[in-house]
Amino acid sequence: MNFKTRISFSYSLSMLLFMSAFNLGACAQLKRGTETDDASKAKSISQVPASSEPEPVIPSEPVGIKKGDILLAYPRGENNNKIDAPATFLIGSVTAGKKLLLDGQEVKTNAQGYFAQVVKLAFGKNDFNLHVDGQGASDGLKVTVERPAPPPVLSTNSFNILPESLSPKEDIGVTAGDIIQIAARATPGCIVTAKFGGHTVALKPAVQKRKDGKTTVNLGLATTFGVTFQRSPSALKDLYLGFYKVAPNDNFQNANVIFTLQKSAAKGAQSIQAKAEGKVSVVQQPILLSTAHKDTIVRLGPGQARTTPLPEGVRLMADGYLGQWWRLDLAPGRHVWIAKEDMVADEEINNVPLSKVSTVNLETDSYGARVVVPLNQKLPYQIEQDLSGGKLSLHIFGITSDTDFVTSDQKPSDSACAKLIDYVTWRQKSDRHYELVTQLKSKDQWGFYADYEENSLVLHIKTPPPIDVESGTLKGLTICVDPGHGGKEPGAIACSGVKEATLNYALGKQFQNALEALGAKVIMTRTAEQYAGLQERVDTAIASKADMLISVHNNSLPDGRDPWKEHGSSSYWYHTQSMGLANLARERLVKDGGLKDFGTRYQNLALCRPSNMLACLVEVGFVINPDELSALQDPKFQETVGKSLAESVKTFLYQKLGGLQNNQPSPAANQ
Ligand SMILES: [Zn+2]
Repeated sequence: MNFKTRISFSYSLSMLLFMSAFNLGACAQLKRGTETDDASKAKSISQVPASSEPEPVIPSEPVGIKKGDILLAYPRGENNNKIDAPATFLIGSVTAGKKLLLDGQEVKTNAQGYFAQVVKLAFGKNDFNLHVDGQGASDGLKVTVERPAPPPVLSTNSFNILPESLSPKEDIGVTAGDIIQIAARATPGCIVTAKFGGHTVALKPAVQKRKDGKTTVNLGLATTFGVTFQRSPSALKDLYLGFYKVAPNDNFQNANVIFTLQKSAAKGAQSIQAKAEGKVSVVQQPILLSTAHKDTIVRLGPGQARTTPLPEGVRLMADGYLGQWWRLDLAPGRHVWIAKEDMVADEEINNVPLSKVSTVNLETDSYGARVVVPLNQKLPYQIEQDLSGGKLSLHIFGITSDTDFVTSDQKPSDSACAKLIDYVTWRQKSDRHYELVTQLKSKDQWGFYADYEENSLVLHIKTPPPIDVESGTLKGLTICVDPGHGGKEPGAIACSGVKEATLNYALGKQFQNALEALGAKVIMTRTAEQYAGLQERVDTAIASKADMLISVHNNSLPDGRDPWKEHGSSSYWYHTQSMGLANLARERLVKDGGLKDFGTRYQNLALCRPSNMLACLVEVGFVINPDELSALQDPKFQETVGKSLAESVKTFLYQKLGGLQNNQPSPAANQ
C-alpha cells in the first residue's frame, strides 16, 4: 500500500459542502487513496535477495537520486518535489558505516545505512543538503522541496468576488425538499446575495464572531490518513455561505445563479455581479435509466463511498443529478449515485421500475446455495452482511411484497441449501423497499454475491472449501495470492531504492511455496515483473473459483508522519466474513516475524471488496522504516513470512471447519 495522500488545503471545499448537503443521506468518509490500493510512481527497479524459488532475480538499479555514498529514494523530483503538507521525510540510504549529516546535523541511520528523516516544511522553497561526514558539504546531495502557500484571503480593502469560487460549480438537478447550498468567496465585511429561479438567498460569512466573543467556523474539515484537520478561521475569512430548500411549486430549468456583492446595505451602494458555472434545474418527473454494463459502481454520494455494485440492465429512476452523476431514487429516503457514463436512458420505455415478489425459491449448485427471487424486470439491490455473522440481508428496491411462502429445493439434507441455510424470511421495510433475510446455520460465511438470471435475482451463498480437517493438510483449498503492484506500478519505494512491488512478489512467492507444501492449489495474480490492474486481479480470483484471496503488500506513510515511530505489520478487510482471517494473519505475522503490531482495520480496498470469497490484504511491514526494510529484504525473513501466512490460513480453516463439523444441521431444516 502507499498512503502518500497529500494533505490538501484545496479551496474547493465549498463544492464539497454543497455536495454533502445535497446528498443528505451520505455518511462521512475518511478520504484516502482507496480506489487504487496504491499509486506512487517511479522509473526503474531494484534488486531483492533471491528467494528460494528459481524465479529470475532482475538486475536493476535502485530507484532514487544517487550521489556518491548517498541514495535519496524520496523525494526524488517527481511533481517538482511539491509537497502540500507541514512536514515530509527524506527516505534513503548511505553506504553502511558512514555518518550522514543533514545541514550539519547527524541523521539517524540503521546498520545498513538506511534513513528516514522527518523534516519540517515552511511555505515556499525548502532546501536540504545531505552529505557524508568528512566529505565536503558542497559535494553533498541537495534537494529542494516546495510547499505551496495557501491562496491568499481577499483583503477588506478589495472589492471583489472570485468567479471560480462560486457554488454550484456544476449543473445540478433537484427535487422538492432538497437543500441547495450556495457559496462564494468575496471581500469580507460586505453583503452577498445569490439570485436564481426567482429566489434571492442572502449569504452569511462562514467565520462569525459570536456574542460571547468566540469565533465560530462551521466547516473546513479535511482528513488525511485518519487525521482530521480543522481549517484555520483566518483562511476562511472571505467565504460566504447560503442555502435554499426546494419548494413543491418550484419549477425552474437551467436557472443561472447570479451573485451580487454590495459594499453596504445603503441604496445605490457600489455593487458587482458574478455568475456561478453550474445551473440549477428542478427534476419534475423521474428519469428512467438502466445500468450500462456489468459491475456498475454504485455510490452513496457523488464520488463518495461505494455500495453493492449492480449488473447490466438494472432499471432505476433518477430524481436528481450533480455534474456527471445521477442521483437514483431507490425508496423513500434512500438514494444512490451512479456516474452518468455508466447509465443509459430508457427513452422508449415507459414501464416504471416497480415489481412485486411472490415466491422465493431455494436451490443448490456447485458454488453453494441459491436464493432465487423472480421479478418482472431487473431492479436495484444492496446486500448487507450482518456484523456478528450468520445473516445476509438482500434489499430489493421498487418492490412490493406478495410473498406468502419460501420454497425449498426438497433435496436431501446434504444439499448446500440444507447445510448452509437455517431459514429465509422477508419484510416490507418501507414503500418500494423489500428485505429478504437469509439466516445461515453458521456464523462463519465463506462468500456470497448476487446476480440476475433473466429477471430472477439470485443470491449465491458459498459452501466452505472441501478440506478434510483430519488430514492435517490444505488439500481441497483453492487460494489466490496477489503480490501487490508490479510492472509499470512500483508501489512505494523503500529506503534502499527497492520497489515495494519487488518485495511483495518475493513474499507472495514464499507464501505460494508454503501453501503448496501444505497441499493447497495456488493461483498467482501476476508474475515477477508483470503489471496487472486491480479489477484484473479480482477477476483472476473469481475465475479460478478461489476460496480465498490474499493480497500481499508493504506499507508507507503520508508526508508529515514519522516512519521511525509508525510501523509494523497490519491487515485489512472489507466484508465481515473476512475479518477473522485478516486478524489471524496479522497476529501470526507479528508472532513469527517479530515486527510491531500495526493492527487490523476495516478498509474499502479493491482487493478486499470481492465478496465471492474471503478476501483480505496484508501489509507485512513498512518499506520506509529502516529496520523493517532490513528484515523485509532478508530471504530468511521472507520465507518466515510465507510460512507464517500459510499457517494462519490453516489455523483459520481448521478452527472454522472444525466448528462447522460440530454444528450439524437439524433434520427439520428447510422444510
Ligand atoms: Zn502497496
